[in-house]
Amino acid sequence: MPDFAQLDREHVWHPFTQQQGWSEEEPLVIERGEGSYLYDTEGRRYLDGTAALWCNVHGHRHPTIDRAVHEQLDRVAHTTMLGLSHPGATELAARLVEIAPEGLSRVFYSDSGSTAAEIALKIAFQYQQQRGETGRTRFVRLREAYHGDTIGSVSVGGIDLFHSTYRPLLFETHVAEPGDAADLERVLTAHGDEVAAVVVEPLVQGAAGILVQPEGYLRAARELCDRFGVLLVCDEVATGFGRTGTMFASEQEGVAPDLMCLAKGITGGYLPLAATLATEEIYEGFLGSYEEFKTFFHGHTYTGNPLACAAALANLDVFEQERTLERLQPKIALLEGLLVEVAAIPEVAEVRQKGFMVGVDLGPHDAALRMGHRVTVEARERGAFIRPLGNTIVLMPPLSISEDGLRELVAIASESIRAAVASAPVDLPQAA
Ligand SMILES: *Cc1c(COP(=O)(O)O)cnc(C)c1O
Repeated sequence: MPDFAQLDREHVWHPFTQQQGWSEEEPLVIERGEGSYLYDTEGRRYLDGTAALWCNVHGHRHPTIDRAVHEQLDRVAHTTMLGLSHPGATELAARLVEIAPEGLSRVFYSDSGSTAAEIALKIAFQYQQQRGETGRTRFVRLREAYHGDTIGSVSVGGIDLFHSTYRPLLFETHVAEPGDAADLERVLTAHGDEVAAVVVEPLVQGAAGILVQPEGYLRAARELCDRFGVLLVCDEVATGFGRTGTMFASEQEGVAPDLMCLAKGITGGYLPLAATLATEEIYEGFLGSYEEFKTFFHGHTYTGNPLACAAALANLDVFEQERTLERLQPKIALLEGLLVEVAAIPEVAEVRQKGFMVGVDLGPHDAALRMGHRVTVEARERGAFIRPLGNTIVLMPPLSISEDGLRELVAIASESIRAAVASAPVDLPQAA
């Protein structure tokens, strides 16, 4: 067997990773998965506490999704959506429209959450231009927002650690306080007539550390957008496909956005695929004779890939066959109960939860301590793979995890937090 760890150290550059620290540690090389578990090249087993970075839904190697991808492979792996269609893309579009909030009737495919957000921004901007609202060139973003890593999606992001380096490259935006409808009203009152769209992560700001918005905020945002003639973009890349307990988070507030971004869970965590859904009204704003040049000039090579569409259709089949959302509800309640004990751990500052999105915040620690990372190292030794966001430990298992699996994950997280804090080299600072 080749020395994969050595090859990794010599040639691979990992995302969101300080390579200096990475190369000093033994990399975890995962060879296969089964259900909620991952197995490394040494045969060691880990509970997948990140659901393959927030995208796995029904577990690894689900027979229905495996079969769908195999069957598509026997037909064709990839063609193009530029000038061609294929059965999977058409069927999937119809099914996404069927389950999406009211009014979203058109599906524009791409291949990552970042591109889904980027596309929503470009559609919103061009739509406003083409309907004569030429002054609407700005976007309102929320502080602490995350919409991906391309320059457009970073422009509407607000996590300084990730985004501040690129400020000189980004377009200007107006910023509103997350979860604060009065602040959004203030921003729109001051700048409403120059705003094309307000961009939000509905209910939960994931990458910010699982920040849960107060009830009613999304509905208020929808009302304000209507009042000021501004589009509402809901980025459901993290929250979509059951993560918050309903198929889409927007449903919980009865909100239908004008544009909705989907990725992560769309293929059940199998293959890269994304979709930006739009209303018929927006779609019609792009219609015209060719020489009017109202075309949406955007498209990626692997857009609407047939293997990915096959996985996405099977993902929706499994939601129905296994009554995933119904069976998720008691597990959400169990998780809530288990987290009460986690919140009682003295080293834990705050626990935040919405459905199957959990952030265990360890409070402020010196960055050099890498407290979140320490916890994940401890967790790995105890048989779970988790990944922190700074000093927040994120728990985001596949929706299909068993109740015992959930208990195991929370127990490992709790033990790992205690062990990490106990073994940290200096005393905990008491304040930020
Ligand atoms: C992960 C995420 C993205 C980016 O998706 P990628 O597929 O990683 O590009 C965008 N928006 C939200 C809310 C996300 O959580």
